[in-house]
Amino acid sequence: MNTVTNPSTSDPLLSREEAIAILNTPDENLQKLVARAELLRRKYKGNHVSIHILTNARSGNCSQDCAYCAQSCRSNADIEKYRWVADEKLYEDNTFVKDHHLSRHCIGLSGMNFSDGEIEELAEKIRKMKKDGTHLCCSIGFLTKHQALLLKEAGLDRINHNLNSSRSYYSKICSTHTFEQRVANIKMLQELGYEICSGGIIGMGESKEDVVDMLLELREIKPEALPINFLLPIPGTPLEHTDMSGLTTAYCMKILCLARLLVPTADIRCAAGREVYFKGEEKMLLSVVDSIFASGYLTAGGQGIQDTIQTIVDAGFTYEIESA
Ligand code: SF4
Repeated sequence: MNTVTNPSTSDPLLSREEAIAILNTPDENLQKLVARAELLRRKYKGNHVSIHILTNARSGNCSQDCAYCAQSCRSNADIEKYRWVADEKLYEDNTFVKDHHLSRHCIGLSGMNFSDGEIEELAEKIRKMKKDGTHLCCSIGFLTKHQALLLKEAGLDRINHNLNSSRSYYSKICSTHTFEQRVANIKMLQELGYEICSGGIIGMGESKEDVVDMLLELREIKPEALPINFLLPIPGTPLEHTDMSGLTTAYCMKILCLARLLVPTADIRCAAGREVYFKGEEKMLLSVVDSIFASGYLTAGGQGIQDTIQTIVDAGFTYEIESA
């Protein structure tokens, strides 16, 4: 088969059929696929792994009904709920990122719409954190243009807004907003000069074609970072009893390889589920992805920082960024 290439980079430009074929790679050919993806990982990301620390700045009481989320209006999950995390915790996490020379401090806020007053409060916190020279990303629902500009002026570098699934599957996981609204929000943010982090969640009952279609949409968006989460079914959410038997390490790895092949220049991040689906396979994982979280996720725990660093070093990679 003659693979079309991107004329400016000579990287492969896969068709939808070729992308589906990659997810159908027989397990015995996985190493060949990993080697193919690793070439692009080395070409664009060298030997570096970006470590991110996530602070859940606003937790619970969300008006939206995303089926996977412990903070949604249809979740009974036993989680902490608060309007603002204590400033002390937020700033401690930021100093931690600085002191350990980590790549980024990610700040998650539950909810889809915020008042201008709330955004001004957040902007004030961002101004303080930027004094540490850390790179900041917020996961923050839909902003108005005015609000996005306010946060940009405060120093916010990047915004996370995931597509989560394919355009055609999206209504199966959320009924309170649409896929199209998400894409429009991302476009508005890109026009304002924001870096974009956008990816998805695997394991919500979607087909392989849905995974491919989501990744093809992300190829059009060209995010700076592309996080792939592997579902951790949370008790109290509608996806609590999801059958996860199809999410083998090999299948998860094929998805990450495909993400690298389709969007080679992005930071491909293995986000939630890394500690479950890739335990003992970190070297293979890091040969394709160049970005991970340490110290847990929004409502789930994860691998601590020292362990994470050790895992990276043992696998032969580096993680420190230059101090700002
Ligand atoms: S994913 Fe975000 S928007 Fe959806 S329910 Fe959770 S906090 Fe709300």
